[in-house]
Amino acid sequence: MRKYSLRPPLQIILTALFLALLSIAAVSVDRLKAHVTWLADPAREGRHAGTAGAAAAAEYISAQLKQLGCDVQMQDFGGRRRNVVGKIGKAERYILLGAHYDGQGTGMPSASDNAAGVAMVLELIRELKGRELPVSLIAVAFDDEEQGLNGSRYYVDHPLYPLDKAQSAVIFDSMGRQFMDLSTWTLFVLGSEYSKELAAVVQKRAGPEMLVIGTDLIGPRSDFAGFGLKRVPYLFFTHATHKDYHGPGDTADRVNYTKLAQDSDLIAQVIQDIARLPSQPKFLDAPVYPAGEIAALQHELDLVEKERKDLPQAYRMMFADFRARLKSDDTRELRRIATSALLALATPRLSGFMVSFYLGPYYERENRPDIAAAVYEDALKAETDPSERRALEEKIQSLRVPAAK
Ligand SMILES: [Zn+2]
Repeated sequence: MRKYSLRPPLQIILTALFLALLSIAAVSVDRLKAHVTWLADPAREGRHAGTAGAAAAAEYISAQLKQLGCDVQMQDFGGRRRNVVGKIGKAERYILLGAHYDGQGTGMPSASDNAAGVAMVLELIRELKGRELPVSLIAVAFDDEEQGLNGSRYYVDHPLYPLDKAQSAVIFDSMGRQFMDLSTWTLFVLGSEYSKELAAVVQKRAGPEMLVIGTDLIGPRSDFAGFGLKRVPYLFFTHATHKDYHGPGDTADRVNYTKLAQDSDLIAQVIQDIARLPSQPKFLDAPVYPAGEIAALQHELDLVEKERKDLPQAYRMMFADFRARLKSDDTRELRRIATSALLALATPRLSGFMVSFYLGPYYERENRPDIAAAVYEDALKAETDPSERRALEEKIQSLRVPAAK
C-alpha cells in the first residue's frame, strides 16, 4: 500500500463505480425470495381465489406496488375475487406486466405457479421504473386464473387503461423450476408469432437456454390468452412444468432464486427494447411461427432421452416417431402432439388427461395402433378408477387386433 497517497487510485474508484452500477442493474435474489416465501407461506392457504389467503396476497401485492410508487387500483369481479392493478409513469402508451397470484388452495403452496411470476412482476417494476422509459408500466396481478383464466378474461373485457395503448403485454406463469426436472434450464418464450416487432426483440436477446415456440403448441393455458383475443401483442415467459406442478411439493424453498433473478435481468432487457421500439407493435392476422421451433422441440426430446433412462416404452415409440417426422411434416398438429407428450411426461399427475384426449386419439387417427396401444397401456398403469381401467383395457384390446375388422 502506498503510504502517502490521500486519494484512492483511479482503478479502485472505477471498480467501485462499476460494482455500484452492477448492483443497480440486477434484480435482487433476496427480494424475489422474500415475495415468494410470503405468498407461498402456509398461512396464505394456497391463495385459492375467493379465500382469505388470496385476499391477504392481494393486499400484500397492493402494498408492494404502492411502495414502488405505483397508482394502485383493486378491480373487483365478484365472489371476493380481485385483480390488483398498479401504474407507474405518465405516458399514455404502456407495457403491461402480468402474472396470476391465485393458487391451488390449502396444502398447495403454489410457489412456482405462480408466486414466482408475481415476484418477477414486482421486481421488474422496481428495476425498470428509474430507466426513463418512453412508456408507462402497468403491473397486473390477476386473480382466479386456475379455474379458467377468469381474472385476465375480466381484465381484458374491462381494462383500466385502453388496450389499444398497450405497446405489449408481457405475461409470466410457472417460473423458477426446471422444466421436467431436467438438469438444464429452459426459458420458454411464446407469443412472438403474432408480432414482427416483438419477434425481432426476442431474436436479438435470445440465448441458448431460451426456446421460442408458438403459443398454439400449449393452447390457451395462461393469462396471455385474453390479450391475444383482443389483439394485444404479447409475450409469455415460463420455465414450464415439473413433478411438483399443481401439487403439495411446489414450495418456496424449491424455487431457484438465482435463476429467477438472472432471467428477470434478461427479461428487463427485452422489456426495455419493447419500450424503445419506434412504433407500436402490430398484431398479425396470421401468425408467423418461429424458425427455430423444430430445433427447440428436438433439443427437448434429446435432453429427455439422455436424462430419463426410465422413459416408458410408449414415449420411446412416440419420440422415435417425432424424430422421423418433425423435419418433413410441417403441420402444427405434429408439433402440438410432440409438445403434449413432453408436458405429459413433465407432470405425471396430469398425464392421464393428455393421453386420453390428445396422444392416444392422435395415433389412432394416424393409423398407428401400435403406438396408440402402447400409450393407453402406459395410462392404464396409473389409472385407479375401475370403469376408466375397463375402458382403457377394451381400447388396448381392439387396437391389438386390428386385422379383425
Ligand atoms: Zn399458473
